[in-house]
Amino acid sequence: MFSTCVKTLRITSKFGSLIRYESTLVIAEHNNEKLLPITCNTLTAAKKIGGDVTVLVAGTKCETVAQNACKAKGVSKVFLADSDAFKGFTAESLTPLILKLYNEHKFTHILAGASAFGKALLPRVAAKLDVSPISDIIGIKSSDTFVRTIYAGNAIQTLKSKDTLKVVSVRSTSFEPLPLEGGDAKCENVSAGDISNLVEYIRQELSKSDRPELTSAKVVISGGRGMKSGENFKLLYTLADKLNAAVGASRAAVDAGFVSNDLQVGQTGKIVAPNLYIAVGISGAIQHLAGMKDSKTIVAINKDPEAPIFQVADYGLVADLFKAVPELTEKL
Ligand SMILES: Cc1cc2nc3c(=O)[nH]c(=O)nc-3n(C[C@H](O)[C@H](O)[C@H](O)COP(=O)(O)OP(=O)(O)OC[C@H]3O[C@@H](n4cnc5c(N)ncnc54)[C@H](O)[C@@H]3O)c2cc1C
Repeated sequence: MFSTCVKTLRITSKFGSLIRYESTLVIAEHNNEKLLPITCNTLTAAKKIGGDVTVLVAGTKCETVAQNACKAKGVSKVFLADSDAFKGFTAESLTPLILKLYNEHKFTHILAGASAFGKALLPRVAAKLDVSPISDIIGIKSSDTFVRTIYAGNAIQTLKSKDTLKVVSVRSTSFEPLPLEGGDAKCENVSAGDISNLVEYIRQELSKSDRPELTSAKVVISGGRGMKSGENFKLLYTLADKLNAAVGASRAAVDAGFVSNDLQVGQTGKIVAPNLYIAVGISGAIQHLAGMKDSKTIVAINKDPEAPIFQVADYGLVADLFKAVPELTEKL
C-alpha cells in the first residue's frame, strides 16, 4: 500500500483513488556560515503547506549551515551538497542538483525565498520541469492555492495551481521566521551531481555595512528625492545610528545617484516590513508603497501635505526635512 521507493507517500483511499501527501523541498539561502533569515520565513511557509519538509543546503564548506537547519522544528531532513561548484550560488550550478533531487524524491513543492537568489533560481528550475513558477506568495490557502500581490501591490490574487509540482517563491515579510530550535532533523550528504559548466563564477563584491540588513531590520529610515543629494543622506545615517535602523531609499534617490541601488525599497527593490518605517522626502508612489506598506508603523516627513505617502502613514509630519530630521535626532 505504501510506496517506499520515493519519499512522497501515496495511499489508496477507500474510494480507490490515490492521495498524494505533500513533501516540500526548501532551498536554503545562506552565506556558507549561517542561514539567511529569509530561509526561516520560507520554512514557516513550507510548514503551512503541510507534510514533510526537507531542506537543501548547497554551498562550499557549509556544513555548519546544514547543522543549523537540522535544528528547525518540523524539518524532517537536511540534504548537504558541499562543492566548490556552488561558489557564487549560481542558478546554473544549483539547478541540476535540484532536478536530480526532484527526480529521486518527487517532491510536491519546491520553495525558496523571493530574494534575488530565489528569483534567479526558481524560474530556471520551473522551466526545466515544465511547470509554472508561482512567485512572491504572501499567503497559503491550501497546498495548491496561494495568495500573491499583482499590479505593484494594488490587487491581491488568489491562484490555484494545477501543476503536480509547485515551484514557489515566498515573500519573507509575510511569514514569521521559524526559530532554529527544537528540531532534530537528519543530515544527509548528497553529491553535487552533474555540474553545469554554463557559467564560471569569478568573484562578487558585496557592499559591507555595520547597520542592520534592510530586509530584516526592525526600523528602516528611507530617503527620497527630497533629500536632494547623497551628502544629505548623512542626516539619515545619524538618525539611523540612534535607532539602530537600516537606511533605505526610493528609486528616484537611487536613480539620482544619491545612494547605491541595494538600498532601494519598492516594487523593483527590496520588500520590507519593519516595526517602524520612516519615509523622509518620499512622495509615496505606488511602486514605493509596494515595498513598505506592510510595515507595522509608518511615519512620513514631507513638506507637501498632499503627498500620497500621508495616506498610508500612521504619523505624518508636514515639515521641511532639513529642519525636522536634525531636530528629531537631537531629541532622541
Ligand atoms: C516599473 C517601475 C518600477 C518602479 N519601482 C520603484 C521602486 O522599487 N521603488 C521606488 O521607490 N520607486 C519605484 N519606481 C518609481 C516611482 O514611480 C517614483 O518615481 C519614485 O518612488 C519617486 O521617488 P521619490 O518619492 O523619492 O521622489 P518624488 O516623487 O520626486 O518625491 C519627492 C518628495 O520629496 C518631498 N520633498 C522635497 N523636498 C523636501 C523637503 N525639503 N522636506 C520634506 N519633503 C521634501 C516632495 O514633497 C516630494 O513628495 C518605479 C517606477 C516604475 C515605472
